[in-house]
Amino acid sequence: MTTVLDALLTELGTECVRTGRDIPDRNFGDASGARQHSPLAVLLPRSTEEVSRCLAICHAHGYRVVPQGGMTGLAGGANPQENEIALSLERMAGVEEIDRDSATLTALAGTPLTVIQSAAEEAGFLCGIDLGARGTCTIGGNVATNAGGNQVLRYGMTRRNVLGLEVVLADGRVLRSLNKMMKNNAGYDWTQLFIGSEGTLGIVTRVVLPLHPRPKGLASALCAVDSFGDALAVLRRFDSRFPGRLLVFEAMWREYMDVAIDRSRLAQPFADRHEITLLIEAAMGDDPGAEDAFAEALAEFIDEGLIKDALIAQSGSDRKKFWAYREANYEFDRFLPKGSHFDVSIPLSKMAEAVDLLRLRSRAQWPDSVLIVFGHVADSNIHLSLSDEGYDEAVGQKMNAAVYGVVSEVGGTISAEHGIGVLKRPYLSMSRTAPELDLMKTLKDALDPKGILNLGRVLAPA
Ligand SMILES: Cc1cc2nc3c(=O)[nH]c(=O)nc-3n(C[C@H](O)[C@H](O)[C@H](O)COP(=O)(O)OP(=O)(O)OC[C@H]3O[C@@H](n4cnc5c(N)ncnc54)[C@H](O)[C@@H]3O)c2cc1C
Repeated sequence: MTTVLDALLTELGTECVRTGRDIPDRNFGDASGARQHSPLAVLLPRSTEEVSRCLAICHAHGYRVVPQGGMTGLAGGANPQENEIALSLERMAGVEEIDRDSATLTALAGTPLTVIQSAAEEAGFLCGIDLGARGTCTIGGNVATNAGGNQVLRYGMTRRNVLGLEVVLADGRVLRSLNKMMKNNAGYDWTQLFIGSEGTLGIVTRVVLPLHPRPKGLASALCAVDSFGDALAVLRRFDSRFPGRLLVFEAMWREYMDVAIDRSRLAQPFADRHEITLLIEAAMGDDPGAEDAFAEALAEFIDEGLIKDALIAQSGSDRKKFWAYREANYEFDRFLPKGSHFDVSIPLSKMAEAVDLLRLRSRAQWPDSVLIVFGHVADSNIHLSLSDEGYDEAVGQKMNAAVYGVVSEVGGTISAEHGIGVLKRPYLSMSRTAPELDLMKTLKDALDPKGILNLGRVLAPA
């Protein structure tokens, strides 16, 4: 240990290597609450060259490394495991370039997402990535997890928002393709391999993002529907009436709204309780009649009985109030007993059946449990929380088996956007076949034969 630390100290200097009590709490654990260990040291490189030297040193000495971004991950991937050195990207932050002609933005991997969004906005563009953790998560972490979020319906997941990458491999070699072009078929697009690889194949140090035109005439509504079938009909009708304009289509099932209203003390939005509350946003353009067209569509769906009640935002503050329902879940832990949290995708054709099954089975096994369901439903992605007063590790495992059992039965996947990390690793074979897992192991062995980077995340150690 002394030799590797000496070499790292020589490389980075004392202010960029933290050990013992100098390691701040933030480097111990991510937002998942998964089990953590003290890192042997935290490295704070300031450049790609320093990241490369750090990895070359750790590789030569056989020390395992965990990359850390904003530590907002929900799969335990950034949590140091025993005898690991953490490498934090926090000193590699900043937007380096906005190329207006190419409509691209180049940033260092440790840049918080919100900084990127603001820089894009100031230049008259929009960054296609947006998620609730925007203030703390980093663009490198977003790439590593292939983050989803709120606008996937329109702009796709992070994968669709990356044009170029710079990555450092486990042995310190640097791969650079800071591509700004929409088309580049010169051989394998290796950058795609690193998106969503959760730090197991390389450390992302720089990212080139495409920028989008800023949407105009944003219309927001909170709508109540009485079945998932009706929610789906509203989605399809909006989509065909205003093609390509929907930005947000979020759903909150009735138990979620009960907690938001009774415990988070948000105002009851509608007179009656409904099966699902939808948050819908669309970019209606700047035609004078655009807002009316949105309101007319809603009125028509109400007349037809598809939508039972609706509120349309008249101002930015109304819009904020609508989002307060959707983001109320960040505080639910304060009110609910302990529980397990899930991020799953379910084919839309099976969503109603899956939610009914989950309600039935959770009630049968844990009669007093609270099941919360909400999420980015247009992307087939729902989040679930199952909490119970008697929750402990054994109950948690039974809950995982129950929920992933239903997800598997209806042809869903155990991770929609948060990744596998350490928490979902035991269940990966429920969503991937043996040949797929073999291919993943082959890729890991080819790029990191010594198992230096994020060993035990996504895949079990060899
Ligand atoms: C309030 C809240 C809301 C959220 N909403 C969403 C959402 O809507 N959609 C969504 O997808 N996620 C969401 N998340 C989860 C989380 O924000 C994302 O997974 C995010 O992309 C993680 O970024 P980070 O910088 O915090 O990464 P970290 O938590 O630091 O790391 C995540 C993983 O990536 C690896 N990693 C980090 N940086 C790098 C790098 N530069 N190179 C290689 N590997 C790296 C880590 O080792 C770890 O395995 C939410 C989390 C919170 C707390």
